[in-house]
Amino acid sequence: MSVFSSVPLPPAALRLALDATALASNWRALDRLSGAARAGAAVKADAYGLGAARVVPVLAQAGCRDWFVAHWCEVPDLLPHVPAASIHVLHGPMNAADVAYAQASGVTPVLNSLAQVQRWLAAGGGRCDLMVDTGINRLGLPMADLGDPGLAALDIDCCISHLASADEDVAQNAQQLARFQAVRAQIKARRYSLANSAGIALGAAWHADVTRPGIALYGGIVRSELASVIAPVARPQAAVIQRRQLHPGDHVGYNATFTADRPVAAAVVALGYADGYLRTWSGKGEFLWQGKTLPVIGRISMDMTIVDATDAPALVEGDWLDVAYNLPEAAKISGLSQYELLTLMGRRFLRDKACLTP
Ligand SMILES: *Cc1c(COP(=O)(O)O)cnc(C)c1O
Repeated sequence: MSVFSSVPLPPAALRLALDATALASNWRALDRLSGAARAGAAVKADAYGLGAARVVPVLAQAGCRDWFVAHWCEVPDLLPHVPAASIHVLHGPMNAADVAYAQASGVTPVLNSLAQVQRWLAAGGGRCDLMVDTGINRLGLPMADLGDPGLAALDIDCCISHLASADEDVAQNAQQLARFQAVRAQIKARRYSLANSAGIALGAAWHADVTRPGIALYGGIVRSELASVIAPVARPQAAVIQRRQLHPGDHVGYNATFTADRPVAAAVVALGYADGYLRTWSGKGEFLWQGKTLPVIGRISMDMTIVDATDAPALVEGDWLDVAYNLPEAAKISGLSQYELLTLMGRRFLRDKACLTP
């Protein structure tokens, strides 16, 4: 044990504040939009970077009953909060260790190939999901394999497929739906599931029994139909760690990409590309403080970003800034996707319950 164990760690200089009310209301909106189907939640990648340990209890309280993660290593974060069987592991059982873990924990593996089907049955089987590929050609059993006799021996809870282009109005959506209907006619399962966030907005035909929204729960607007019902959830905040006065001709940051042409008050913020605030924000990003907008000047560095605080004379070291991070807008400005903007956010952000706003 460390000699410092009795001294608390100083407070963080980065917080990922989470609007729990907006999160719950987004789930309810997506559940309503899912019509006769029930909305689950994609909580892979630590609930898209927001922290599964605080997101899952909020969604469970709102009424969510199905949880989708990608990796087996994501299961332990969920187990204290929800029944094991309600956790669906999308990547499937790749080896004997995955199978043993699924059977011991009681979580539901998503089988993606005949090899995985055989592996599961050989170990005694049990309740599972089946992912069938209907055109994304990523993960899932090819439709050509649907006649395999092994499939009839499975106890399938949810038969799943995944849409490739639901955020666009393209023929592929109807084509995948038609293939999914053919899958339903061949595969006996308790429930069927096709739609992600964008798929929910496509309409009732795509809803099946369970929907799997991810990005829209967390404030992403991936189709215009969602804009009126989805609220922002994530609010990254960073502390000012230094304020300094620049004179005309002074340069700022690595490689001197900004030169003051007038007196400029610069504030140094404790957020950098190591935290997911990538260099693409150089010269484009903005921070907000008491109604003022502070633009990024110079290069983003690993642990710091410099902003022009000339219009905020009262801003001092220790003050907190909001990062301008409205997802659809930030995606346009940065060239990053709304998904990347959330999942990039690094480990130095405080994601504890104290960040939950009522
Ligand atoms: C990530 C994922 C989802 C959620 O997708 P969003 O676009 O974030 O709503 C749903 N289903 C599967 C299989 C996924 O991998």
